[in-house]
Amino acid sequence: MKSTLYALFFCLLLVAPASAQTNPPQETALSRFLRYAKIDTQSKEDQTTVPSTAKQLDLAKLLASELNALGAKNVSISEFGIVYAQIPGNLADNSKVPVVGFIAHMDTSPSVSGANVNVIIHKNYQGGDIVLPKDTTQIITVEKNPDLRDMIGDDIITADGTTLLGSDDKAGCAEILTMIDTLRQNPQIKHGTIAVAFTPDEEVGGGIEKFDVKTFGAKFAYTVDGEALGEVNEETWSASTATVTFKGKSTHPGTARGVMINSMYAVADYLSRFPKDMLPETTEGRVGFVHPYVGTIDVEESSVKILLRDFDVSGLKAKEALLREMVEKTGRQFPDVKIDIKVEENYKNMKEVLKDFPQLTANAMEAARRSGLKPFIKPIRGGTDGADLTFRGLPCPNLFTGGHNFHGKLEFNSRRGLEKSTETLVHLLEIFAGTSTGR
Ligand SMILES: [Zn+2]
Repeated sequence: MKSTLYALFFCLLLVAPASAQTNPPQETALSRFLRYAKIDTQSKEDQTTVPSTAKQLDLAKLLASELNALGAKNVSISEFGIVYAQIPGNLADNSKVPVVGFIAHMDTSPSVSGANVNVIIHKNYQGGDIVLPKDTTQIITVEKNPDLRDMIGDDIITADGTTLLGSDDKAGCAEILTMIDTLRQNPQIKHGTIAVAFTPDEEVGGGIEKFDVKTFGAKFAYTVDGEALGEVNEETWSASTATVTFKGKSTHPGTARGVMINSMYAVADYLSRFPKDMLPETTEGRVGFVHPYVGTIDVEESSVKILLRDFDVSGLKAKEALLREMVEKTGRQFPDVKIDIKVEENYKNMKEVLKDFPQLTANAMEAARRSGLKPFIKPIRGGTDGADLTFRGLPCPNLFTGGHNFHGKLEFNSRRGLEKSTETLVHLLEIFAGTSTGR
């Protein structure tokens, strides 16, 4: 009897090579995403509390309960609405493998409504532009979204044209939960301890300041908050903000002769000095910019705020020097206006730290390859929560979610986008555990 069983076992091994099967998760990433997309979690600028909007807690509670249902340990929601959890490893000795973390954010951008999101699944996409049904002026064109060419036969996921989709970053939330679900269905997939967190207020800044790196307990982490399949980010801007103030003198215009100093003309002069080839509207790729983005003008006092962005600290310093030089030039034209410039550092390019952890990017690229994708590295013309964490001792590159056109009504993802992103997370854990079931 015993020998028959052995024979049968070996037969099975022969017929079903190690390649074999991964059992599907209990619930697909798409199905989870649809549930999360229905919950309005829009964050709000300039609030004194974290989370900036209480409604983000609705999703936090749901994710916490789903984590519990999937067997996660130490599930908690902090006073700031951050969801933390751990998934125990299944190795003989989990302490031999680093605790790897995955982080996604729950809020959606304040720039477009995230209430009553009506998700539309365009099944078996056959090419061509996608017109969103509730506002037919909203069209996802192949010209502006060439990735669509690689998505024939996929199910494209959009909103109806009146709201954003919220794939940024509910796709990340759904993918992380589905990763956990997949591991649960497949104990043969070996992995170390996993830390998971879902954060509020990524879009307005401030949420990550409340993140407790120690509670989280990971050695490395990945934000799952990126875009097209295969895109890995290990670089962000180095960023500063300048505030330039112009002080004049106000007086009654009827008796102003020889007394009034109108600061507004100095502002106009200053703005006219911005180099046209160094602005957000004229640069792309690795080229940085200066960007006057808001200001107030008045006779007595005016001010302008300017974003400075560059991938290299030296480039950022050069931009600061340029703004100061412009202040001097305008000052010479308007000697009676007192001009003052203050420059504040916002965040630094996380590559400064991540260059010492090349295996994080390399492992992510390998995991994407094992999922049948062509990975590539792209610098982010922006910041990430991971950049902040990276400088606080938790190195944290950013991984793709399959999403496109974040923060707008043309946002989209796809069924394959969600599935392949999830699959990549699973492979990544196997790589860190130094094993592979060869799937
Ligand atoms: Zn995001």
